[in-house]
Amino acid sequence: MLVIAEFMRSTLDYLRDLVAFDTRNGTGDEVACVAWLAEALSRFAPDQLIIKTVPRSRGKPDSAYVLAIWGAPKALLNVHIDTVPSGEGWTADPLELVEREDRVHGLGTSDIKGAAAAILGALGTATPRNVAVLLSGDEEAGSEVMPAIIRSGYLDGIERAVVCEPTSCRVGRAHRGMLAMHVRYTGPGGHSSLSDTVAAPLLSATQFCARLGDYRQDHLDFGVDPFKGLCVNIGEVTSDGAYNVIPTTASAKVSMRPPPGDHVAAREADMVAIARSASPDAEIDTIVAFAPFATRDISAFTGMFDEAVVDLPYWTEASMLSQAGINAIVYGPGNLEQAHRPDEYVALDQLYAAQARYAQVLGGALS
Ligand SMILES: [Zn+2]
Repeated sequence: MLVIAEFMRSTLDYLRDLVAFDTRNGTGDEVACVAWLAEALSRFAPDQLIIKTVPRSRGKPDSAYVLAIWGAPKALLNVHIDTVPSGEGWTADPLELVEREDRVHGLGTSDIKGAAAAILGALGTATPRNVAVLLSGDEEAGSEVMPAIIRSGYLDGIERAVVCEPTSCRVGRAHRGMLAMHVRYTGPGGHSSLSDTVAAPLLSATQFCARLGDYRQDHLDFGVDPFKGLCVNIGEVTSDGAYNVIPTTASAKVSMRPPPGDHVAAREADMVAIARSASPDAEIDTIVAFAPFATRDISAFTGMFDEAVVDLPYWTEASMLSQAGINAIVYGPGNLEQAHRPDEYVALDQLYAAQARYAQVLGGALS
C-alpha cells in the first residue's frame, strides 16, 4: 500500500486542495473551485479551455463548469465537483483531507472529488488524445449546469462518455429516473365549525397522497428486476391548521423513480392529474423531472473496462448525456456506502485503479 501511496502523491495533493473547497450544493462556492480546476487543467496544455459560470434557479448562487479539450474529442470524462451537505457526526473537519492507512477521508472524497483528483493525477502521466475533460457543478441537487453545457453545443461530436460517480470501480450501465413534485393547496381557513363548507387544503393534500399511494400499489409489478415498481415516496406533508382550525395552506412533497425505459414526462402528467383530482386548483411545482438511464451500447466500453457491469441505485447525469445521444457509462472510485455520510472516505486502491482507467481514456482508448 505504501507503493500505491507514493505513486498517488500528486493525486492526493490535488484531492486535499479539492476537499478544502466548500462546494456543498446551494451554499458552497462552486465557481471558485472550478476556477482552481481550470488553472490546474491549463498546465496540461489543452487545445481549448472553456470556463463558464451558470446561473441557477430557486435562489441558489451561480455554479460553473470547465471543459478542457485536446484534439477533436470523441470521448469525454465528466466529474461533478459539488457535494452534499456534510451533516453531523464527523470526527474531523469535513473539508480537511485525513489520511488513515489505506484510505483518505473528507467530504466529497468518494462522491466524487476523488475521481477529479485521479484525472488530474492521470494527466501527469498520460498524453491526452482526442479527449475532453468536463468538471462541472450542481449535480447533487437540481442539475442545472449539465443541461446548459449540452445546450452550448460544446459536446457536439462527443460519442462516448464516462460519468464519474462512486461505483467501486465497476461499470454502471443503468439507473432509475427521478421525478419530484411540490403540490400546494390553499383556502381561506377559519374556525372548524365552518369545515363542512370551507375549502380543506389539508384534506386535499392527504387525498393526493393517498391516491398517489394507490398509484404506487398499482405499479409494484411494473418494470423488470432490479428496477421493479416506481419507488413512489410521500416525503412530507405540512399545513398551518390545528384540530379546531381549518388550515389556509397544505403542501405535499412527493417523488417517484421511473425505471430505465420509462417516460418521465408521462409519469409527471399522471402525477399532475392525481394532484388535480384532489382539487383542481392545486399549485404544482415540478422540482426535478430527470429521465432514467441505460447505456446505449455497452460493447463500446467492455473491451477496455473489464470490471463487473452493474445497475445503479442512484440517479446520475449520465442520463442527460445519454438523452443528448452520447453513449455513456458510469464509473468511479468509492461507493455509496462510503459517501453521503460522516467520515466519508475513498480507498487508495480504488483511486489507483480509477486513475489507471482514466489515463487510458485520456490517452485515446475510447476516442
Ligand atoms: Zn455524485
